[in-house]
Amino acid sequence: MSNQEKRILNSEVTDPNKILPIKYKWAREFYKTGVANNWVPEEVNMQKDVEMWQSKSALTEDERRMIMWNMGFFSTAESLTANNIVLAIYRHITNPEARQYLLRQAFEEAVHTDCFIYCCDTLGLSSDEVYNMYINIPSIKDKDDFVVSITKSVLDSGFSTDGSENVQRFVHDLVGYYVIMEGIFFYAGFVMMLSFLRQNKMVGVGEQFQFILRDESVHLAFGSSLINAIVQENQEIWTEEFKQKITENIKRGVELEYAYAKDCLPRGILGLNAETIGEYLEYIADRRLERINLPKVYGTENPFPWMSEIIDLRKEKNFFETRVTEYQSGTLTWDEDKKA
Ligand code: FE
Ligand code: MN
Repeated sequence: MSNQEKRILNSEVTDPNKILPIKYKWAREFYKTGVANNWVPEEVNMQKDVEMWQSKSALTEDERRMIMWNMGFFSTAESLTANNIVLAIYRHITNPEARQYLLRQAFEEAVHTDCFIYCCDTLGLSSDEVYNMYINIPSIKDKDDFVVSITKSVLDSGFSTDGSENVQRFVHDLVGYYVIMEGIFFYAGFVMMLSFLRQNKMVGVGEQFQFILRDESVHLAFGSSLINAIVQENQEIWTEEFKQKITENIKRGVELEYAYAKDCLPRGILGLNAETIGEYLEYIADRRLERINLPKVYGTENPFPWMSEIIDLRKEKNFFETRVTEYQSGTLTWDEDKKA
């Protein structure tokens, strides 16, 4: 394919300021899905959570630990993701429709960062404790360190995507951001926090995680489409050795996420235990691999079919009882909606 065609990477004819005509329609569709999913943390009432968190008896020590560990991981992981998008990925993706989505994603990461500020404020969590957990808790630090280690290339200010070897490094790092960070490292937390919600505990925090899950599943879908488009246009990078390397990284991600789940959940609670979460991680890792055209490695069944229901339901009109559907029709009824 010549450089004279509009391409995702390294195209001489791409003008980042000219979004029309659109070549990559999927990027535009993900943008519209993101806009239709608009939310802000303050829409979720935290009163019941505050009462439960402050009560001495409503939650066990193990339940509190699980909540705190997830606060600690997500509060800083959201900023890490936002920084990666803006400082590294955006710089190299010159295609305007893909950039439009990246801006939307960056905004959503700001909303997620805001969500953890809101949780800390309403529940009265120690910000010192929460925001240092990614340094002080080894199972969280290991995940963040791994992401940083497999996404080094693109954060290097001298990095460019010129040449097949660099395109390959770029795809390698995109798998680190999108497939491993957003597609695997968020998911043990999603299962845990949504299990609380299913048991009618910490329902405000649970609802916030439901919104985040809905956003993240679109980030992951966009990232996978982006990876596939780059590979499609640079097929020489897709060697057996490279596919093996990416698969190994994903398997390492599953191991680290399983170690994190064991640390969050030293004993089973809420009908959950680390082993079952481990099975779920294998199940989703297979789906992530298949999404980027790699063979699955585990063949594990989904132990939490209700998670798929939550993800698949995200487009249903009545999913969020506190929400109305006007966003999805494209008319701007933001203010009225917020009063409802
Ligand atoms: Fe996020
Ligand atoms: Mn994200």
